[in-house]
Amino acid sequence: MNHWIERAAALRPETRLFIDGDFRAAADGATFETIAPRDGSVIASVSAGGEADIDAAVRAAARAFESGVWSRADRRERQRVLIRLSDLMLEHLEELALLESLDSGHPIGDSLRVDVPNAARVFRWYAEAIDKVSDEVAPAPENALALVTREALGVVGAVVPWNYPLIITAWKLAPALATGNSVVLKPAELTSLSALKLAELAVEAGVPAGVFNVVPGLGPVAGQALGRHPLVDKLTFTGSPAVGRGFLTYAGESNGKQVSLELGGKSPQVVLADVADIEACASAVAWGIFYNAGQTCHGGSRLIVDERVHDELVDAVLRVGRGLVQGDPLDEATQIGTIASERQLTRVLDYVDVARSEGAVVHGGSQLRPDGLEGGYYVEPTVFDRVDNASRIGREEIFGPALSVTTVSGAEEAIRVANESEYGLAASVWTSDLTTAHRAARSLRAGTVWVNTFDVADVITPFGGFKGSGSGRDRSLHALDSYTALKTTWIDLG
Ligand code: NAP
Ligand code: MG
Repeated sequence: MNHWIERAAALRPETRLFIDGDFRAAADGATFETIAPRDGSVIASVSAGGEADIDAAVRAAARAFESGVWSRADRRERQRVLIRLSDLMLEHLEELALLESLDSGHPIGDSLRVDVPNAARVFRWYAEAIDKVSDEVAPAPENALALVTREALGVVGAVVPWNYPLIITAWKLAPALATGNSVVLKPAELTSLSALKLAELAVEAGVPAGVFNVVPGLGPVAGQALGRHPLVDKLTFTGSPAVGRGFLTYAGESNGKQVSLELGGKSPQVVLADVADIEACASAVAWGIFYNAGQTCHGGSRLIVDERVHDELVDAVLRVGRGLVQGDPLDEATQIGTIASERQLTRVLDYVDVARSEGAVVHGGSQLRPDGLEGGYYVEPTVFDRVDNASRIGREEIFGPALSVTTVSGAEEAIRVANESEYGLAASVWTSDLTTAHRAARSLRAGTVWVNTFDVADVITPFGGFKGSGSGRDRSLHALDSYTALKTTWIDLG
């Protein structure tokens, strides 16, 4: 037995709500089970926050904000605490990574090398930014001084999904806290454990009581209560379009709180006939969809390929896909882990049927049942070839390891088809012509465009979408705008 499995068996994770600096059960005692997608076993029962718990958390957050203990603390104090939190995450790297892998099905190697270090880096990056961003003095008339300053909004509600629990939480939490807000986080029902560990570390780092609260619970209950709470000033969400739009309704029917949404995509990987290196391209295309078993908001789920390179590229992508090591997320050799839940597994397999019924050529598409892990949620890397971009498979976000391939003729058609989507989160283009690359990058309607690569990203650049992919941006200094409002102070100098 490998040592991660032994450690997983010995884990006693925190499962209670974290409100106003303390862990506690839900007011009505409700719980839900969190499952390990590697084998379908129950990890623990987690407290299910209800309306009363969300209300308690929001009121604690509002009180903390009003008190100034964090919102008006010296900036360098906030900086010191958030850097300490980042350091603590790295000190607890293995425990955080194990919780993340066990609860979500991410390969432990990814959690150790990518998820936890990246999340820690996000906290450090925003902490460091605290004393490096200045406000403005407007060019007022001689007899006046006009200051334009950024101020925290107050209480931020964050509702996050299960596909990258820690990283997406960090993208929202770090800039919100760095700018002095208080936060109430509702993690996804499938993946609450790493967020609760983060709360423990936040206490140790010195985040004052009430400034950061975590209320696990069911979306329609706890998530909705947060979205409708009149004392929440800002709601930031990542997840499905239907739920995201629900938050606009919650905001409209309550206090008109600001809402930022990241709602996924159907990101095109466009490969033109003059692609320089087919093998490198195939590897990027395959990893661009199969990484994290395709459960990535910006996953490159549509390959739009020129007919002249179609056969060679699709063969190479299939080869890369078949070579990926798929299996137990707690095995360090695993490259592709599980689908996050049984429901999502069914959804992905249903799409395989849809692809067949729509006439696509299906490579793969089967559920896998590794020995000893028969209860787990595994789907092999799958390619749907000869897909009509206007079909359901060409349009709908599957959120699984499934690539749809649409053949085109020439750059113009490729870009047109790439843009024929409700979504606009990310896109890539592969070409060896500089002018074509620039033209394509300009024409692609997406929040991120990669040229001759895919999925390279860092906190230094903004992330978010056009069209149905949402509004607002995570990451980069621009994310500070999501958690602050501008204040004008006009001083008469006589
Ligand atoms: P989801 O329902 O949108 O869940 C995202 C978050 O919203 C979770 O915390 C969820 O809580 C909460 N939520 C759910 N229903 C809610 C409601 N009525 N009011 C307030 N909050 C609510 O996403 P999902 O069901 O996990 O996945 C469905 C599909 O969404 C996926 O197949 C995929 O296509 C897409 N998705 C996209 C992303 C992305 O990164 N853009 C991430 C995940 C999923 P619970 O966990 O308790 O439901
Ligand atoms: Mg789970």
